[in-house]
Amino acid sequence: MVIVARVERFFTRKLTMKALFILYIASTFLGLFWIGFNFNNNVPQNSSKEDIAFLTKRLIELEKSEEHLKSLIKSKETNNEDLPIIFVVTPTHSRLEQKAELTRLCQCFMHVPKLHWIVVEDRESRSRLVENFLSKCKVVSSHLFVKTPDESVLKANESRWKKPRGVQQRNVALSYLRFEHSRSKGVVFFADDDNVYDLELFNEMRHTQKASVWPVGLVGKLKYETPVLDSQGKVIFWRTAWKGTRKFALDMAGFAVNLKLITDSPKVQFRSGRSIGMLETNFLSDLNLELSDLEPKANGCTQVLVWHTRTEKPVIKNEGKMLKIPVDQREV
Ligand code: UDP
Ligand code: MN
Repeated sequence: MVIVARVERFFTRKLTMKALFILYIASTFLGLFWIGFNFNNNVPQNSSKEDIAFLTKRLIELEKSEEHLKSLIKSKETNNEDLPIIFVVTPTHSRLEQKAELTRLCQCFMHVPKLHWIVVEDRESRSRLVENFLSKCKVVSSHLFVKTPDESVLKANESRWKKPRGVQQRNVALSYLRFEHSRSKGVVFFADDDNVYDLELFNEMRHTQKASVWPVGLVGKLKYETPVLDSQGKVIFWRTAWKGTRKFALDMAGFAVNLKLITDSPKVQFRSGRSIGMLETNFLSDLNLELSDLEPKANGCTQVLVWHTRTEKPVIKNEGKMLKIPVDQREV
């Protein structure tokens, strides 16, 4: 028992991430080698039921030790003090599909270690729906709110590109970060609630020094927009069909910045300015960034790890036909 306890202590305290990883690879190889060796040597050609049962048992044992090592790696990663926090800022507004969108995001973010989700509602107060939702979502989160002023709200007859959305909400998140996390080591990413995010994107952005950039799929009426790199791997211009002359001609989902840039420039906010579609480029310019500061990610900007998807507006016109069925107040 003493030996077991010591081995356990050795495993949980003394091993570094690197050693754990090597151990994990080594044990997997040893396991496979062992199975192969035994299969060739001990198992007769017409293997009996006992042989199969024995091998199955061994396989289960190996799978268990693999799981154990994997969970050790994960807990080391999650508790790693040095790992920068990823602050994900999501503006969100009440509509029928809101809970579905937030569910997709929550179930993505819960797989990312050290992620802090800042959800900012476009409302005068917190909604019960989002409050309940976040209390169940297994992601560290902060729940903020600010209502977009009436004059900045898109009218029903106005085109989408006329007024940017989520501006005040992202700015409240910036104030929150400066106030509550000025000393944290982290990176800030603005993730709208209707996009789709590959988990790999978070590994890519985690160690951003100043600002990292990458392609965004299904945006700007293109299959993807992307920074274009020179032979040295530096950003030189942008693949975009709209206003490619912008200094930083990218989408909100196409960059992340080090938290220090935000805390070092306490006045910088999102501002749409006089011209339309300048939100992202103004923000990055105001942070005193130059093209040469940008860190291209996603394998030299060759991979799409985030998609600017949009959810179809649900058409709810058959509720009136449900009159014979008792109405309940379920939340959708
Ligand atoms: N949003 C908001 N208030 C609004 C409309 C949108 O807070 O009145 C949020 C929305 O939930 C999303 C972000 O702002 O997270 C961007 O909005 P949308 O996806 O409609 O913009 P687009 O993708 O067209 O830029
Ligand atoms: Mn969107």
